[in-house]
Amino acid sequence: MKSDLLLHNVTIATMVGGHYGLTRRGAILIDGGTIVWVGKLSALPRAEARETIAGRGRLATPGLIDCHTHIVYGGNRADEFEQRLQGVPYEEIAAQGGGILSTVRATRKSSAAALAAAARPRIRNLIREGVTTLEIKTGYGLNLETEIKMVEAMDMLAEDLPVEISKTFLGAHALPPEYHGRQEAYVSLVCDTMIPQMAGRVDAVDVFCESIGFSVAQTRRIFEVAKRHGLTVKIHAEQLSHMGGAAMAAEMGALSVDHLEYINPSDLAELAATGTVAVLLPGALYYLRESHSPPVEMLRRFQVPVAIATDANPGTSPCFSILTAMNMACVLLGLTPEEALAGVTVHAARALGRQTRIGTLEAGKQADIALWNVDSPAELSYYLGYSSCSLVIKDGQPRSIDA
Ligand SMILES: [Zn+2]
Repeated sequence: MKSDLLLHNVTIATMVGGHYGLTRRGAILIDGGTIVWVGKLSALPRAEARETIAGRGRLATPGLIDCHTHIVYGGNRADEFEQRLQGVPYEEIAAQGGGILSTVRATRKSSAAALAAAARPRIRNLIREGVTTLEIKTGYGLNLETEIKMVEAMDMLAEDLPVEISKTFLGAHALPPEYHGRQEAYVSLVCDTMIPQMAGRVDAVDVFCESIGFSVAQTRRIFEVAKRHGLTVKIHAEQLSHMGGAAMAAEMGALSVDHLEYINPSDLAELAATGTVAVLLPGALYYLRESHSPPVEMLRRFQVPVAIATDANPGTSPCFSILTAMNMACVLLGLTPEEALAGVTVHAARALGRQTRIGTLEAGKQADIALWNVDSPAELSYYLGYSSCSLVIKDGQPRSIDA
């Protein structure tokens, strides 16, 4: 069998079906950017590879997938963080123009190139932790011009980093100040002007459906327009209270429903019936010191696929570490390390609608692979603040992780 690349003597965690599926002393053959063979070294077909990488027993996993981020934004909110810890009440910070609207102002003022330049080191940190695909949302422009500029920044990042980017339009993230008191008018702007312009530029449409965001009825209206434009949908739901957005989104064919601290059993039955992925974001839970966790035991009982993501954003989860999110999913939410790894591979791929192409190590899949200096896959979730990743292969190409 002729091939471009042979990974020789690796321990393989395929993650097929959400399980490690461990093979010790294994091999992976890659040709034309695709995995063509995975199995035991002893069963390796006679292979002529142009390049061989000696695995020396290192662990090979699918390239990790961060399926929920807001990693492109202007400015940061460290001042606000400091003020809060000095005891300044949130209302006072908001009255001074803090909170999400300060990020909106900074993002509106930045060029696309400046937004990309600020996001690049954050994404490099994810790449050093084995990430080969990430989702990025707009939502700090809240006007057409800036929302498009955010997408342009994502396109620049996809061009020069060894990472695949899934782009999501989150125009309904917050109400822009110029629409104060006119929420329905802003929803009309999102539906009638922004979504038609975003179709062709992004992969999906998301809505922040909360009492402090947009209602279930407004979310449904936005989703109907998104679907008419051929875009898939996803939702921020049940984070701060139970609104019913997750079940509505699942019923409308959402790829994923995200946050879910307050989701209930009847919503979960809907997710189970529709195969919708539940995306848990432990970084936000940690940062906000939330005591109400998503119901992991019920998610298991209903066999809902669970993904984990960083939710990287300047306000509630300034976390650019997928391994930290996995550790928090285990320590704060009670996931097993196997569930956490499935949450950043096979189930995260499904949350982006890319499960036929990425997320597992199988013949026919895109050759996105991370190599780790560990003996067991549990070590990926076990360490805090340490990446054991030694090599990333993206589309069959070995990439320097310090690039
Ligand atoms: Zn989010």
